[in-house]
Amino acid sequence: MALFEEIESDSEHRRYNIKSPISLESIGEFDAATAAEVQSAVKRARKAQRDWATRSFAERAAVLWRWVEVIVERQDDIVELVIKETGKARFEAIAMEVMAPCMQISHYAKYGARYLQTRKRRPTGVMRFSKKLTLLYQPLGVVGLITPWNGPIALTANPLAQALMAGNAVVHKPSEVTPFSAMLLKEITQAAGFPEDLYQVVQGDGETGAALIEAGVDKLSFTGSVATGRKVGEACGRNLIPVTLELGGKDAMIVCADADLDRAADGAVRGSFFNTGHYCCGTERVYVPESVYDAFVEKVVLRTRRLTQTEAGDGDVGAVCWDKQMDIIEAHIADAKEKGARILVGGERNRTLSGYFFPPTVVVDVDHDMDLMRRETFGPVLAIQKVRDEEEALALANDSDYGLSGNVWTTDLAKGEALAARLTTGSVCVNDMAVSYGIAEAPFGGVKMSGVGQVNGEVGIRGYCHLHPIVIDTGSKARGGYPYTPESAAGLQKLIRIVFANRFLRKLFV
Ligand code: NAD
Repeated sequence: MALFEEIESDSEHRRYNIKSPISLESIGEFDAATAAEVQSAVKRARKAQRDWATRSFAERAAVLWRWVEVIVERQDDIVELVIKETGKARFEAIAMEVMAPCMQISHYAKYGARYLQTRKRRPTGVMRFSKKLTLLYQPLGVVGLITPWNGPIALTANPLAQALMAGNAVVHKPSEVTPFSAMLLKEITQAAGFPEDLYQVVQGDGETGAALIEAGVDKLSFTGSVATGRKVGEACGRNLIPVTLELGGKDAMIVCADADLDRAADGAVRGSFFNTGHYCCGTERVYVPESVYDAFVEKVVLRTRRLTQTEAGDGDVGAVCWDKQMDIIEAHIADAKEKGARILVGGERNRTLSGYFFPPTVVVDVDHDMDLMRRETFGPVLAIQKVRDEEEALALANDSDYGLSGNVWTTDLAKGEALAARLTTGSVCVNDMAVSYGIAEAPFGGVKMSGVGQVNGEVGIRGYCHLHPIVIDTGSKARGGYPYTPESAAGLQKLIRIVFANRFLRKLFV
């Protein structure tokens, strides 16, 4: 049964019906915006942005603080809707879709002004004698935001808070699988007193997302899969607009021989099963040296068997958000089994529950010939590969087209840091998993196929700005020297010889 289905429409809009992955009952229908409607939204946003950009940081922050208050007031509505729409476990709906947005928005309300403060500089080099420089963070204008389904509120609120604090307006195209969370978020922003049209939602599918890129936005912030990211990057290149691409991952976990195995097993279980594995920096591959392999696997199996899965949303592992993802998870497991992998826990769709549930699954005897170790599974699967030592683990961890995040587990923190530095990923954790997205000071973004650009904190919010240099000549007289004379050309050459042929002077003047 398809959870996301196009249905008949008597208008020019494509119409969709969405079913809950938990109850398999319809949550509602929605119409995809047409290209013309997307363009109108961008036009309205441009008008709203002109006024918003004139507001001080303190005024913008006041709106953001009020937004946090309304999220807290409406947290039960958010949690219930997100559970129904995505199938998340209740704790995860609260942690990811209420707590994280509160933290993210508050961060930019508090620190945004500091990150974007106008800076005055004296230029270096010979220019220092006659120029002053002002560096101004100007908003870009209208930001297009395209988001996935696995964190419908969190993955919207974070870029939205940054774009708004920087003085932009935002037109948002949420995932077609989670349209109702976006409607609720819009309602919340209205209740928080957002100026009209500053944040708009255009519902729709990939076609609507493509229309948004063509609708005249000044930047595109995209989070989603590698395949779509490639198309989005191409379209942004054609339109010459800046883009950040936050894409998929295949995060590796390296368990060192000296790791605290209880702690590492906890980390593996949490890392692989959090958010039903629908987590861009969830742990998808675990490498364990043979000296501790058996003990580690035993601990992981024990912990996995204790996890619960219920239709009420109060278990540890939620539902698989939609049938398309279930197909990928099942295909990866089937491919791994066919190539010799063994399933120690789970492994088949949980048919004791009526919804789309896949149990937390532990797989061993895996290798890099299997899709399970090569392609993003994005499901509750913990795959463990036995390796000789940490060096082999590192080589295998880096043997991936993806490079989002990863984690290293050891009691020797210096060694952990050294190994982390050699991982070709956007970020790494030592003795923890996937927390870097939650630390604003840690720029977040993938390398290799996992993305382009970094988000969050100082780097992220500045990405929603044009850094505008204003150069002021400090002299009191006209500069002169034009038209040129033979003497002025000779004088310039003499100056070059004096300054740059002399190793003391050239250092002094650069
Ligand atoms: P997806 O790529 O299928 O869709 C993402 C968004 O792009 C949706 O809103 C979709 O409608 C839109 N879209 C589809 N085609 C488009 C087109 N041609 N032009 C413009 N927009 C288009 O991804 P998904 O299945 O919704 O999300 C899961 C993926 O997102 C996973 O790969 C996951 O790893 C990734 N993700 C990455 C991060 C990160 O921060 N790196 C965070 C969360 C999720």
